[in-house]
Amino acid sequence: MTGHGRLPVVYAPDADERFSSWAARMAPFYAMTVSEFVAALGLQGHNVFDLEWRLSEGQGALIATRTGLSPEAVRAMTFWDLRPEARMMIARGHGRRCPACPSDIRRRTSALPWVFHCAVHVADLQDAAGGSLPAILGAGPMAALERTAKAGATVLEAWAHGVGQQGFGPAEMLALLTARHRRASPLSLREQPRMSLQTRRDYHEFLTTPIIRQALTVIVPEYDRVAPVLTKPVLSGPRSLAQGSLLQSFALTVGIELPPVSWTAG
Ligand SMILES: [Zn+2]
Repeated sequence: MTGHGRLPVVYAPDADERFSSWAARMAPFYAMTVSEFVAALGLQGHNVFDLEWRLSEGQGALIATRTGLSPEAVRAMTFWDLRPEARMMIARGHGRRCPACPSDIRRRTSALPWVFHCAVHVADLQDAAGGSLPAILGAGPMAALERTAKAGATVLEAWAHGVGQQGFGPAEMLALLTARHRRASPLSLREQPRMSLQTRRDYHEFLTTPIIRQALTVIVPEYDRVAPVLTKPVLSGPRSLAQGSLLQSFALTVGIELPPVSWTAG
């Protein structure tokens, strides 16, 4: 494995498979760690996720030569075609999973925070705890929001590929959605879980702590209704989508498409 010839055995990438997933499947075949396998591709010292993020033409050509895969097939496993701001949103880790996918296959589109279905099985993606959107939101709200989420995802997809960059775009909309729409305030009675007087006393401090109030909760009231109070606030700007939970990124994707007509100061 020290020469620069072609590797004797190379798995074909699965449909829409990520480079990091493919490398993680190949490495054990050669009894190597992933970084050893990356070195065997001629890219010693490079991190597999960095390569996946932004593969240069030269690096792609090198991998193609070593594997016999076409340069196009190698590139298709990476996020080279996304604008940098969108690339920042790609989860490195395992993130969301499709229950129908083999456990060792990670797909490229499942890593995009505005994608909620497996590209191959169309199944609802699940978070690390096995939760899915229909289970979290309920079937009714899910069905009501799905079309808007799809439209929001189309907007984000175009933005990620550098289409329609001018004017008020998803980045500006995310800033708006995550902005505070009124002053921080403690939980209202409606927001509080049902609890005994004793519990109420025990949690007095929490119950009187001001919670930040973001526009998202007004623009997407379904989110406001089901999101647990403690994890309701989202990060600000693009990080909200990049690092949000399954529910949070779904609500943000819906919010991107919804015009803020109901956005009123509370
Ligand atoms: Zn799948």
